[in-house]
Amino acid sequence: MTGNANQGTNLDPWYGSYAARTAGLAASEVRALFAVASRPEVVSLAGGMPFVSALPTELLTEAVERTVRERAGVALQYGSGQGMPQLREQILDVMALEGIRAGVDDVVVTTGSQHALELLAKLFLDPGDVVIAEGPSYVTAITVFKSFEGEVVHAPMDDGGVNPQALRETIARVRAEGRTIKFLYTVPSFHNPMGVTLSWERRMEVLEICRTEGILVVEDNPYGLLYFDQPAPHAMRSVEEDGVIYLGTFSKTLAPGMRVGWAVAPHAIREKLVLANEAAVLSPGTFGQTVVSEYLSTADWKGQIDTFRGVYRERRDAMLSALQEHLPSLSWTTPNGGFYVWLTLPPELDSKAMLPRAVKELVAYTPGTAFYADGGGRNAMRLSFCYPTPDFIREGIRRLANVINGELSL
Ligand code: PMP
Repeated sequence: MTGNANQGTNLDPWYGSYAARTAGLAASEVRALFAVASRPEVVSLAGGMPFVSALPTELLTEAVERTVRERAGVALQYGSGQGMPQLREQILDVMALEGIRAGVDDVVVTTGSQHALELLAKLFLDPGDVVIAEGPSYVTAITVFKSFEGEVVHAPMDDGGVNPQALRETIARVRAEGRTIKFLYTVPSFHNPMGVTLSWERRMEVLEICRTEGILVVEDNPYGLLYFDQPAPHAMRSVEEDGVIYLGTFSKTLAPGMRVGWAVAPHAIREKLVLANEAAVLSPGTFGQTVVSEYLSTADWKGQIDTFRGVYRERRDAMLSALQEHLPSLSWTTPNGGFYVWLTLPPELDSKAMLPRAVKELVAYTPGTAFYADGGGRNAMRLSFCYPTPDFIREGIRRLANVINGELSL
């Protein structure tokens, strides 16, 4: 067996055979702990699982039944590599809520927005190419970019999202090093993991910077419709068609098990996306697309999004008030939508080192380092409020406070 980047001590007899790019696919160190954290006695503030129990089960059952009885010819068959036209038409109505005007042909259905990220990485990244991403950024986007040997360089964020001046400086620094920037990856609304939202003024500034610098923007927007107080500002794609690839998904407004997401991209990129989609999966799952389409045609899907908003708002409130009660000296973000709060610990604490002790105290979170490609986030953590009930959230924060205070008094 010839050696490559993955050489090392490993019980896998094939370790020498893997492509060099798989070096970025190392299992996260915290994964084993998460297995422990899924025990029922542990309050998990770690995962980003939507609360699917709030869905109308009867209606969904009917949608599935109609899919099999009446639309089997489409739903059980291979379909278009771009996705079903009827669903793409309905996706236009969903996006219109965030100010986006597009045509049916502009939309490419993908296997969740995760798969759109994978296709974009495949289309754009050569080894060593740089993706600028917010620091911190969505963990599995970082994994995907790395798995195509891209390098993620972070542009610092503050409570208002990515800082435009810092973005300018980051671009200049990367270019001065002679490296190629392929796109900016951004989650402008109810960010994962920070929970913060980019203002309209900053959206315009970021677009202007990227336009001037000739950098494509990948706008990933899974949480935009899940606002609690004010709607998020309209999507960047609502004002810029040529330089923005927009990603959407039904994972948070309906159910992640459907694995139905989409991309809206300028013409030439969209054609390539369809080809890449076909090469990867022939056609995105027709069964899930048909069920989603049936659901959108027959259910009050906007009312359901309102229901989710109510559920998550109550949980956000429970988390914020528990943080105020138990950890008043720390700082955290105040999300107006989405699933996440970002908690900053005193600088001497290391959230990853602390996690085994937290799990022992029956509470789990995601350490901040998971969201950085460069080792940042050591004294921070992401707390998800999407899945546990408000009572569990309060109890989880109480336990977390014990762990943190215990660390500080060591
Ligand atoms: N982008 C972000 C920012 C996310 O938080 C997630 C899901 N956690 C995804 C993409 C992937 O979502 P999907 O289920 O549509 O693949």
